[in-house]
Amino acid sequence: MMDPCDHCEEVMQPYLDRALSVEEQTSVEEHLASCPWCAKRFTFESELRGYVKVACTEPMAPDLKDRLAALRTPLQ
Ligand SMILES: [Zn+2]
Repeated sequence: MMDPCDHCEEVMQPYLDRALSVEEQTSVEEHLASCPWCAKRFTFESELRGYVKVACTEPMAPDLKDRLAALRTPLQ
């Protein structure tokens, strides 16, 4: 039997790309609602994407690097 958290990790990128079917997206959202650990990971990934988008249009601010480092630490 597949660990739902492993499945979450697999679909994280397509989910953030909005590339999943409605059924898949709903099952991911249901899992996130009941699994704080995956919810935290998804929040981290989506925030990271936001930062990367900003970093592409602006020079990397020193405080941004600190915030990225602070976000990454709890997940290791
Ligand atoms: Zn999970």
